[in-house]
Amino acid sequence: MPKPLVAANWKMHKTLRETEEYLRRLLALVGAEPPVELAVCPPFTALARAAELLAGTPIALGAQNGHPQREGAFTGEVSMYQLADLGVKYVICGHSERRRLFGEADAFVAEKVRAAWAYGLVPILCVGETLEERRAGRAWEVVERQLSAALGDGLSGPLVIAYEPVWAIGTGVPAHPQDAQAMARRIRAWLLARYGPLGEEVRIQYGGSVKPENAREFLGLPEIQGALVGGASLDPESFWRIALSASAPSP
Ligand code: PEP
Repeated sequence: MPKPLVAANWKMHKTLRETEEYLRRLLALVGAEPPVELAVCPPFTALARAAELLAGTPIALGAQNGHPQREGAFTGEVSMYQLADLGVKYVICGHSERRRLFGEADAFVAEKVRAAWAYGLVPILCVGETLEERRAGRAWEVVERQLSAALGDGLSGPLVIAYEPVWAIGTGVPAHPQDAQAMARRIRAWLLARYGPLGEEVRIQYGGSVKPENAREFLGLPEIQGALVGGASLDPESFWRIALSASAPSP
């Protein structure tokens, strides 16, 4: 199993100047050999500059989205191919904000995952249920549907799965760690049943209101190999404290 991956999803935040300032501060904290893998996913406008600043450092560059077509008449879109050209390593696919606010369906998410692999990127596939679905006892049914749709053609490259209950994202109310653990265990069992030993290589992150104060509760769980962090990643010190929780010995 590779090192845990702690990834920052800045969403629609930060100017170019703020990006430069953030990355300088984060690089000063991280040093040459951080105990976990770190990735930062800035907005598209800052990707090229972030690629320059992160080249040769231990912090990987990620993107928040990517279009599966290589090029074409898709006004406003940026392709996986263009991301790869910039030196992007990770790309978030199927974030619940994109599913909910931009109508992205399972089939489109599947296209993105396939395209990410085709261009040498590592997809961070987001899955998770709404509160209504959880209350109705349908959490696994929903996650299983999202997994099957996105990965139905098999694993064609390295993969990260972010389990992000929709109701925990940006609300300040995280999932109960035991629920996150139980879901991660089901995801792992599903991966192993479908893909055999390859399923062991997939890192499963938890995402949803992770902060420095609660990170250890998630990152110390045996089934969780990292976190996808939104709000609390916007400050480099806070993000670094979360990352350090992934490498601290279990309490
Ligand atoms: C996210 O956007 O993936 C996320 C987990 O956000 P937050 O940490 O703010 O809940």
